[in-house]
Amino acid sequence: MKKPQQITVLGATGSVGLSTLDVVARHPDLYQVFALSGFSRLKELLALCVRHAPQFAVVPEIGLARTLQDDLVAAGLDTRVLVGEAGLCEVAAHPQVDMVMAAIVGAAGLRPTLAAVEAGKKVLLANKEALVMSGALFMQAVRRSGAVLLPIDSEHNAIFQCLPVDYARGLGPVGVRRILLTASGGPFRETPIADLMGVSPEQACAHPNWSMGRKISVDSASMMNKGLELIEACWLFDARPDQVEVVIHPQSVIHSMVDYVDGSVLAQLGNPDMRTPIAHALAWPQRIDSGVAPLDLFKIARLDFQAPDEQRFPCLRLARQAAEAGNSAPAVLNAANEVAVAAFLERRIRYPEIASIIEEVLNLEPVISVAELDAVFEIDSKARTLAKQWLVRSGR
Ligand code: NDP
Ligand code: MG
Repeated sequence: MKKPQQITVLGATGSVGLSTLDVVARHPDLYQVFALSGFSRLKELLALCVRHAPQFAVVPEIGLARTLQDDLVAAGLDTRVLVGEAGLCEVAAHPQVDMVMAAIVGAAGLRPTLAAVEAGKKVLLANKEALVMSGALFMQAVRRSGAVLLPIDSEHNAIFQCLPVDYARGLGPVGVRRILLTASGGPFRETPIADLMGVSPEQACAHPNWSMGRKISVDSASMMNKGLELIEACWLFDARPDQVEVVIHPQSVIHSMVDYVDGSVLAQLGNPDMRTPIAHALAWPQRIDSGVAPLDLFKIARLDFQAPDEQRFPCLRLARQAAEAGNSAPAVLNAANEVAVAAFLERRIRYPEIASIIEEVLNLEPVISVAELDAVFEIDSKARTLAKQWLVRSGR
């Protein structure tokens, strides 16, 4: 019998992390948890360690590490606790690891995800912000190391499933006309635009179809999530921004489509549950049970489609602009968005101001070419400073 594959789950305490562990636990003969990381939810991390008995756990700082280590010893576990970004990179690149689930949210996930890529691991990529910030460098590292990169974002996983195996030759040679990226439209798809000024973080996080972390939930409400996904799709599938069309599909049953030159459109369908793309990527090219209920088409009964309205969703327009400008623009967009979303979640700004902040920062920052990772972090930090200056200037 084959030995179980060793998996590191970065961001184990989050929504994607927990879904990953749910699928992994269904297949103890196939997968064994090697390392888990958490950031603020450390009680949950302890419980996950008790459940999965990993060799390593990673936390952000030394005081928390000591507490967790004591609790693990008391629980009779020999899990070793590592600290900070260095600890994350160590468990991502460890020689005993076969695959890494990259499910930390935001820019914080970039270095550990790249460490897994550079070590040539099978990388299950949920952390879209990493690719948005440093797409060119990231994809170069994938090609150099021979890492196997599998998309977890449900749309990209769907596109991957609808493309032929040799799509790396480019979309033209395999007969793809365009990629149709579906979007639910989020909780504010039909809210009168004038009312958006008064919406709360709770309303923004109440996604109609998906249960997700708070940052991506706000991104879904503003459709910045779709904008980030557009950029993600361009890197993953070597597409130009004008080859990716966004289609609002409120039922979230079709997870995306590929339109071929002969008029065929291939789609991947399923219940909106991240365990499907996770199970697909874990087992690829095989298939395993994910625990997701079969799709009941009679219950769904109808599928609707709509064009997105950029007046309602200015973040989508800004993301497309950044995708077209390329170079440093997506990193600036991402950094400004992270600051603006955090400020909205802390009730320091109103929902429409998320787009105002991003637009101002994009206008202030010149687009420059990016040749190395340090430059990416410099751009990220400058954009964050500009976004924070907006907050200070506006008395927030
Ligand atoms: P969550 O907020 O639920 O989880 C984020 C994870 O990252 C948690 O484990 C959190 O730890 C950890 N974390 C947060 N900040 C830091 C930091 N500074 N350093 C290290 N670890 C940190 O997010 P989701 O699971 O929803 O999303 C994770 C990623 O996957 C995002 O990039 C998102 O865009 C992407 N994604 C998510 C989907 C979903 O359905 N949720 C779908 C497609 C993509 P703790 O909880 O302990 O604080
Ligand atoms: Mg998605």
